[in-house]
Amino acid sequence: MRRYLIAANWKMHGSLEMVHKFAESFDQGVDLGAEVVVFPPVVYLGALQGLTSKYVQVGVQDVGVASAGAHTGEIAASMVKDVGGSWVIVGHSERRADQLEGDDLVAQKFAAVIAAGLSPIVCVGETLAQRKAGDAFAVVSKQLKAIIDLCGVSALAKGAIAYEPLWAIGTGLTATPEQAGQMHASIRDLVAGLDQDVASSVRIIYGGSVNPENAGLLFAQEEVDGALVGGASLQAPSFAAIVAAT
Ligand code: PEP
Repeated sequence: MRRYLIAANWKMHGSLEMVHKFAESFDQGVDLGAEVVVFPPVVYLGALQGLTSKYVQVGVQDVGVASAGAHTGEIAASMVKDVGGSWVIVGHSERRADQLEGDDLVAQKFAAVIAAGLSPIVCVGETLAQRKAGDAFAVVSKQLKAIIDLCGVSALAKGAIAYEPLWAIGTGLTATPEQAGQMHASIRDLVAGLDQDVASSVRIIYGGSVNPENAGLLFAQEEVDGALVGGASLQAPSFAAIVAAT
């Protein structure tokens, strides 16, 4: 049985005040019934971690590939571990677009996260034009194949896959539960073709305008194991409602 994974991606939003308010209102120090991870901007990682209980894990939205050295502005996965982080997002579509991160670099980041003993969430997803052209699964499988080729299929089980159709991120447009369910099932089939045990255990979560209203229907899909939440994770009550919808 896969445990739901609900992740909050704050992107470049937040302040110390928000971290305090969020922790106070969201975390009552009880099991939330799902694995919950919050990804604040990295500068707030320590503050958030210091204010939350063991039921709220923290992580970062990106890492460098190198383990240390002369790489100004970069942080290493081992440093995230050193300060108590557990998870790292790699390959978010905003980084693929804004920082021109390609599949090979994303795969190297995935490998660096695993090597540091942390869990990666790798984001995959197609544009609207690619979906309309019937290429959605081809795009997603190419993105995943880069990881599998570099790290091996068993590495997938050490993290999670986030299916995030680009046309649904921050747009208010959500994939229908059926669209999400179909893509998640296709991803699981792809993995099952290589390793049945990994396919059964890896969590495939959905991201793209998830909110308290649509979360329950998405989670009702057998293949949807949770959510990567952007906008609706910025307020503790709406994020809590999404967690409760599991
Ligand atoms: C995201 O940042 O990964 C995301 C899915 O954002 P939103 O929920 O705002 O669409």
